[in-house]
Amino acid sequence: MTARADLIVVGAGLAGSAAAWAASARGMSVVVLEAFAPGHRLGSSHGSARIFRRAYPDPLYVRLTGRAEPLWRRLEDEAGETLLRLTGGLDFGPQRDPERLHAVLTSCGVPAELLPAAAAAERWPGFSFADAGPVMFHADAGVLDPDRAMAAMLRLAAARGADVRFGTPVTHLAAGPGGDGALARTDSGTFTAPVAVVAAGGWLAPLLGELVRLPALAVTQQQAFHLAPRDAPGGPWPVFIHGDGGTHFYGLPGGRDGEVPGAVKLGEHHAGPVTTAAGRDGVVDPAARERAIAFAATWLPGLDSRPVNELTCLYTTTANEDFILDRQGPFVVASACSGHGAKFAPLLGEILAGLAAGEPAPDPRFTLAAHLAR
Ligand SMILES: Cc1cc2nc3c(=O)[nH]c(=O)nc-3n(C[C@H](O)[C@H](O)[C@H](O)COP(=O)(O)OP(=O)(O)OC[C@H]3O[C@@H](n4cnc5c(N)ncnc54)[C@H](O)[C@@H]3O)c2cc1C
Repeated sequence: MTARADLIVVGAGLAGSAAAWAASARGMSVVVLEAFAPGHRLGSSHGSARIFRRAYPDPLYVRLTGRAEPLWRRLEDEAGETLLRLTGGLDFGPQRDPERLHAVLTSCGVPAELLPAAAAAERWPGFSFADAGPVMFHADAGVLDPDRAMAAMLRLAAARGADVRFGTPVTHLAAGPGGDGALARTDSGTFTAPVAVVAAGGWLAPLLGELVRLPALAVTQQQAFHLAPRDAPGGPWPVFIHGDGGTHFYGLPGGRDGEVPGAVKLGEHHAGPVTTAAGRDGVVDPAARERAIAFAATWLPGLDSRPVNELTCLYTTTANEDFILDRQGPFVVASACSGHGAKFAPLLGEILAGLAAGEPAPDPRFTLAAHLAR
């Protein structure tokens, strides 16, 4: 069986699902090929919680979060459900540099407050900010629900005619016959299209590396832990990032994954062992668990520091954590992870659909050439 569409999307994580949503809205006929079942936990996008925040030290990403947020609201309107809940966000610890973040945010027009540690401790009694220096708060931060967002984007794409196929790994990707377009081979048939968005997460390099020269991509197995609140939860916890001594811990309300009401998801940014998407073992590193417990015991007195559950997840990271969003020939290359891509999902969809339609990369920093020049 050979089928033809305007666009092949390989991978139905957040990036691929968003590309299908946005491309189908442009009237393109789309086929989505996903190796595993809906809700699988083998890639980067599974679960009920990821941080949305405006707080980046880099104005480019602050601006992109500003473009992403209204698209989350558009997606919610179309889907008829809430996918992004604002809780406010805290940044603290010397390496997070709250003063600089505050300056960047306010210069970009994002309201933010800088508080002394004692005032912050009074306002957020679940935290201990002792010796942490100033604390930055911005209201425009919160939690998005990736499982529901992916389901909604694929549902909406399918309603516009997209052919969404789970359990359909692409076993071979190539230029189409006569070098025209892209061809994706699967066990249930071959698909051709003028262009393919390859949003294969940690599997990107094995799938595309012989067709497109890619920069180095580090695949790491990350771990996250859910911690129960000591007291009955009041309002939701703010999302937070703490940076000190070379480590960054992040936290957020864990949602359904948290097991107990009000559980907070806690993780360490960029400390996981290097692996491959096919070879990772899914086993939590005991040393990482101990670091998370120690962090919570020091900084989060409102939580029981012993995790009620834990999970692993893949990061696919570029050298400088910039995304790759570019097109080479019939292949749109989507690597928008580096541990921070979820918040941009609906915007990534617009960008990837635009690249598939022949529009330029959204910023020179996201091009393959820029990554390869580093
Ligand atoms: C622990 C953790 C915490 C995170 N926290 C945040 C956060 O708080 N905020 C934030 O903004 N971001 C966060 N991120 C990052 C964010 O989750 C990722 O940027 C995002 O999920 C990447 O999505 P993706 O679609 O690129 O990759 P994936 O979700 O991995 O999707 C790739 C898909 O391609 C499929 N695939 C692979 N090969 C093939 C093939 N040959 N054929 C068919 N299908 C294939 C895979 O099965 C997979 O479903 C976090 C990531 C992790 C791991």
